[in-house]
Amino acid sequence: MNTIDKVIAQARSENRIALLEHEAKIIVREYGITIPKFQLATNEKEAARIAQEIGFPVVAKIVSPEILHKSDAGGVKVGLNTVADVEAAYRTIMENAKAYDSKANLLGVLIMEMAPKGTEVIVGAIKDSQFGATLMFGLGGIFVEVLKDVTFKIAPVSMDEAREMINGLKASALLKGYRNTDPVDIDALAQVLVSISNLLMDHPEIRELDLNPVMAYAKGVSTVDARIILE
Ligand code: ADP
Ligand code: MG
Repeated sequence: MNTIDKVIAQARSENRIALLEHEAKIIVREYGITIPKFQLATNEKEAARIAQEIGFPVVAKIVSPEILHKSDAGGVKVGLNTVADVEAAYRTIMENAKAYDSKANLLGVLIMEMAPKGTEVIVGAIKDSQFGATLMFGLGGIFVEVLKDVTFKIAPVSMDEAREMINGLKASALLKGYRNTDPVDIDALAQVLVSISNLLMDHPEIRELDLNPVMAYAKGVSTVDARIILE
């Protein structure tokens, strides 16, 4: 069995349709998506050891099948610079998650390399009952939630179509450099859309996918959160 089938089979065997963040990341990484280094810790000492291996600063995030929106649960701590920070973050995250949902199964804390600050964008995919796999692109935060500034295309999408999705945003000027900010790497973003399109075409058992956010830089991109829901 290949890596992707193994991850999906594991989730199925546990009756889960929502993959854990690191499982979703293992899958999208197989399609060439750049992901900062990560490893699951199941206690404070292990969290500290992993952080030292990865190198500071790191990010720590709750891993629980019942908690899909980790920040809402107080389950994300960024900018951890020392072993003491990481150990404290492990404890706080576990306590916050417990307080948020006392029935949630807490599997541990994902320790992750911290990506540099970039322009946060969202790549999404859903299965439309009429059109099948459909890709979505938008800018992070209020642009998606308040302004609903997103574009859609039915998969499969080519590089040209992916560029059209990016350039089709009302706020696309923000990606092209303004005042003293650099333009972001549009082709690297378009490549993420094409890779996700390929993943969906090859794996119809994926019902929903979100990369939220993808950090876009002057050169390259980095995907710091991923979510996959199976059929
Ligand atoms: P959720 O969406 O489940 O609340 P995220 O994993 O998206 O959790 O984390 C929340 C926010 O923390 C992200 O939008 C991003 O700004 C920041 N973040 C998460 N992981 C990283 C990382 N590895 N490097 C830098 N920033 C991160
Ligand atoms: Mg997120």
